[in-house]
Amino acid sequence: MSFRLFDAPLREPSQFVGFAGNMIDRQSENRADDSVEKALADPSARLLLMHGGRLYLKLIGGGFDPWFGAEESRPLEASLDRGVLLGFSDSGPVLAVPAGIDPEQLPDTIKGIDYRSVYMQGLIDEAAAGAMAQGAALLAWHASHRFCSKCGAEAAMRAGGYKRLCPACATEHFPRTDPVAIMLTATREKCLLGRGRHFAPGMYSALAGFIEPGETIEAAVRRETLEEAGIRLGRVVYHASQPWPFPYSLMIGCFGEPLNDDIQADLNELEDCRWFFRDEVLSMLAREHPGGLVTPPKGAIAYNLIRAWADSA
Ligand SMILES: [Zn+2]
Repeated sequence: MSFRLFDAPLREPSQFVGFAGNMIDRQSENRADDSVEKALADPSARLLLMHGGRLYLKLIGGGFDPWFGAEESRPLEASLDRGVLLGFSDSGPVLAVPAGIDPEQLPDTIKGIDYRSVYMQGLIDEAAAGAMAQGAALLAWHASHRFCSKCGAEAAMRAGGYKRLCPACATEHFPRTDPVAIMLTATREKCLLGRGRHFAPGMYSALAGFIEPGETIEAAVRRETLEEAGIRLGRVVYHASQPWPFPYSLMIGCFGEPLNDDIQADLNELEDCRWFFRDEVLSMLAREHPGGLVTPPKGAIAYNLIRAWADSA
């Protein structure tokens, strides 16, 4: 693998991953404490409604529409005061709002579908899926950071949902994004794939792990690969990233160059881990493997890492 600065293709690899189609103009420099109120007063405002990891979708003409107007959202018990302003589309402000109504109580014309299924089954277009990732991550962060982590007082949403301010000690809290390294260790001939214990039958993927405080991306890639597979890495090269709203991660995809061959898998973490030659990987990508082995689906950053390597011969 060689790399020269600005030698990258015009279309960045990150543009091919799921949740990368977000078209919202965030206008982060204009966020104010009344941003949500102002946006909701605009009749062109469009809302994504979320409840317990599900997106509410209107059934329309055999398809799904994720967008609700502010008035339309009231019967679904939308907590407009807890909404966040994602930004602006060509048609107006875009918000994500928690909806109180239970999925079981929804009218027949509306379904509550979990984020992963919405994304995996391609129920909404890429721009809406990107907006869903942004909204889901923000709402999840607010739900789990209600109280000030310094003094314990209840903090209040500010800046359109991009900040929480503690009224007691004046500490400002900002939404978190948790970085996760995901890496494909590969030579020209073969790559390293593992199977987590919770994976779907037959699926093998790139190894991954959280980046720890005080660690570079490259150091995390080397540490995780050594811990999980007993493989030491030489060069590490960044490839692409993916917003991952479960609940608010950023997957950072890299390639790593192995320095040894003998795998020692951490069987607490992995059910299996082995080398795969290119022909076998191509059959897994094409869903034509004789033993039924598969890679993660298209859209997953792991798929994109594996595909980029398999096609690089
Ligand atoms: Zn406080």
